[in-house]
Amino acid sequence: MSIYEEIEIEDMTFDPDELIYTYPCPCGDKFRITLEELWDGEDIAKCPSCTLRIAVIFDEEDLPELPPDEDEEEEEEPAEELQTKMQTLKESNRIKQATIQVAALFVQLELLQTMLFQHLVERWTTNCRGTRQ
Ligand SMILES: [Zn+2]
Repeated sequence: MSIYEEIEIEDMTFDPDELIYTYPCPCGDKFRITLEELWDGEDIAKCPSCTLRIAVIFDEEDLPELPPDEDEEEEEEPAEELQTKMQTLKESNRIKQATIQVAALFVQLELLQTMLFQHLVERWTTNCRGTRQ
């Protein structure tokens, strides 16, 4: 397979939606090479309708940034969401724990009050008995 022509990347047409570089082929179709292929070091643009190829002359530094992989992005988002959910869960757990601790304190306080009351009643009863005797 021979190279039909060497083309500067500036002379090619970039489709920012498809992320593809095209250049008119003499057969009427277009040579095409994706931005990803260029980033991978590929420099041969092929025509899907004939056997012609062109060599693309480019500097990697001049290439537009490759957008992040959509699959990865999709994976990242739920992970972040999960983290937020986990954090919310942790926080609500902390609140629950704090509530339980406060409730436990109240129970203890009530128990203490009851004990104190019982103690007082006992003392009062003994005192009464004592004074009666
Ligand atoms: Zn062609």
